[in-house]
Formats: sequence, C-alpha cells, structure tokens
Amino acid sequence: MTATTSKRSWPVPGIQKLHFPAPSFIWERRGVMENFTYIIKLTTQCNLGCTYCYHFATCSSQHKDISFDSGALAYFLRQIAAISHNRVVLIWHGGEPLLVSREMFEVAIETQKLRSDLKWQNLLQTNATLVNEEWATLLGKMSFDVGVSIDAPQSIHDAQRVYPSGGGSFDDTVRGIRLLREAGLNPGALVTVTRGSFSLARTTYECLLSLGFDHFDFLPCLNFGDTTLPEGISMREFTSFLLEIFRIWAEQDNPDIHIRKLEDALLGVFGGKPAGCRYRNTCWQYLTVLPSGDVYPCDKFVGKTEFLYGNVFTDGLARVLKSSGRKNFTAFLRNSLEACRTCELFQLCKGGCPARRTLVDDYCEAQKHLFTSLQRHYRTLLEGRH
Ligand code: SF4
Ligand code: SF4
Repeated sequence: MTATTSKRSWPVPGIQKLHFPAPSFIWERRGVMENFTYIIKLTTQCNLGCTYCYHFATCSSQHKDISFDSGALAYFLRQIAAISHNRVVLIWHGGEPLLVSREMFEVAIETQKLRSDLKWQNLLQTNATLVNEEWATLLGKMSFDVGVSIDAPQSIHDAQRVYPSGGGSFDDTVRGIRLLREAGLNPGALVTVTRGSFSLARTTYECLLSLGFDHFDFLPCLNFGDTTLPEGISMREFTSFLLEIFRIWAEQDNPDIHIRKLEDALLGVFGGKPAGCRYRNTCWQYLTVLPSGDVYPCDKFVGKTEFLYGNVFTDGLARVLKSSGRKNFTAFLRNSLEACRTCELFQLCKGGCPARRTLVDDYCEAQKHLFTSLQRHYRTLLEGRH
C-alpha cells in the first residue's frame, strides 16, 4: 500500500519526507463514495453475556429476543435493491449474528444478485466463538469483511467477555479467528476499552499484533446519559488510551498496521476524507434495522421514538426514508451542531459523533485534547526538520 505513496504529492509541504504511519491510506480513502449504510440487527440474541453489555444487563430480561427470518430478510433486501444506485453497505450485526442459520446469509447473497450492477459490501461484526469450518468456508466464499469483537490481553477478555455461565470466551474467539484466516479472510479486531484495560495500551497493542491483526479499532465503554457501568470510563480516559496507542504506533512506524479511529482523526488533520462516520457529519446515511422491521438512524439512537423512521415491513423503505422521524433526526443533527460551528477545530472534528457529543459530558474536551495532541506531534516533527 505504501509503495504508491511516493508518487503522490502530500498536502502539507515538506511532510512527504517524514516517516510516520499515515500517508498511503489517506490518499486511498480520498475517493470514498457517498452511500447508505444499513446496520442490520439480524438477531437481538447473543450467546455471550459480556459484563459491559447494556443489552444483556438490562434489556434482555425485559424484552423478547427476536431474529429476522429469511423471508423477511429477502423482502427487506429487495427493497434496498429497488431504491439503490451505485453502492450499498450492509453491516451484519446483532446480538450475535452467527446465531441465525447459514441459509439466511445464502439468501442475502442470492438476493443481492438481483442487482448485480450495484456494488454490495458486506461487513460482519461477530464475537467469532460460533465460527466453525462451515461458517468460515461460507463467509470466505462470500468475501465478507469480518470484524471480531475481542478484548486484550486474554485475562481482560476472559473477565469481560464471558458466557452466561461465567466462563471466558478468549480461546473460542481465537479459534474462530484462525478458522476465518484459513478460509482466506483477514478479520479485523474491535476492542472495547474499559476501566480494566484503559491503562494497558501497550499490552493491548502488543497482544493484538501477536494475535496477527493488522487492522483494528477501539471502542470506549462509556458512561453516558442514565447508563453507568462498573467498567465504564470517561471520554478523557479513552482519549488518553488512544493517544498512548498512537505513540506506540508512530514509534513502531509500521505502515501495514491500520487503526481506524486514529486514521480517521489524522485524515481530518491532513485534509483527507475519513472513512468512518465520525468527523464526517454523515450520520443521515446510516440506518439501523431491527428484526421487527423498525428503522432508526445509527444504532446509538435505537429506542429514541422521536427518531423512529418507521417500519420496513409495514411502511416500506421508500417511505421510511421520507419519514418525519428522519426529518427530526436531520434537524437534530443540524441544531446540535450550532455550538461547534465557531470552534477552531471544527474543520477537523466536524462535531464528532452527535450521540456522544450530546450525551457524554467530557466529549468535547476530549476531542480537543485528541486533535491538539495530534497536531502538536506533527508540528514538532516538522519543526525538527527545519
Ligand atoms: S451518531 Fe455517532 S456513531 Fe452514529 S453514525 Fe453518527 S457519528 Fe457515527
Ligand atoms: S472539539 Fe468540541 S466544539 Fe469543537 S467541533 Fe469538536 S465537539 Fe464541536
């Protein structure tokens, strides 16, 4: 990937001569196309009971677990096929999505063939404990992008990502990762950073590398709104963790290692276009679809009735996209950004994630700390060259 970097001019004068883990992906991603991303909650069930899982702690005891069935899924995908042009991104999510049958995924791929002119991208987020040879072969044949939820190191994972019986799931997750690789896939890792792990940046980073990951991302276990978890951390603590990861990443200077959150933040710093939703102001492009057919914006807003877009089975997707719930959400995005417009970091941060910005007390302070720290790092590098 870096081999082509030298052929391109770098947007910051003089910086193309520096050695740091950013240039190639920034240019790779400048051409990211606009499109809808559908987060499909295939099932609300999960075979794990992670200690920090809000759903497991509260909802599962109050709500019936439900899953898509293959007829409903095909019906929904046909609606997507009918209204889409260009490119469609489907994120297969749960609960644990591999709790549904393999036939469901075969139906999904068959339905996508109805519009072979579209570029369909399928991403699966799984805990990988249920991956066996049959699943791995199927996902490999379908060329799914797979993200594995895994915490690190093993002691942290086994304390947090547990079966309902209390047993740790690390060995099963690692076995699933191995099978996915044997099927020709290159899964990424999604690590939840908690009170137990936020001070273990180096250990976490080294563990991910020793497990063979070359792309990963971190998710904070945040306390926000009325949600408080013993494992919860503040945004400021998460940012300190992320900056420590950045220092290790920059120090090792291996351009083949990709860290989504840091790359997205650096894309802002260097004038590129982040691939993820943060720092892009494009939350309106995301739709979360529950097994009931109800549609919300990004899954961070599921349950907020003012942002319920409608139901794909009773209203149909075309009407859902024109609903008053969607207009409410667009107005919320616009209005909640007012205070950010005068911020000197707005061009980089773009208000960040509105769900977090409006619910997490220290979100803005942490964003400022992240961006100014990254700017300072590269300014120092540049000054050292002159
Ligand atoms: S609300 Fe946050 S997580 Fe959801 S799409 Fe927007 S930026 Fe992304
Ligand atoms: S740093 Fe804070 S005020 Fe500035 S754009 Fe980001 S969230 Fe808004």
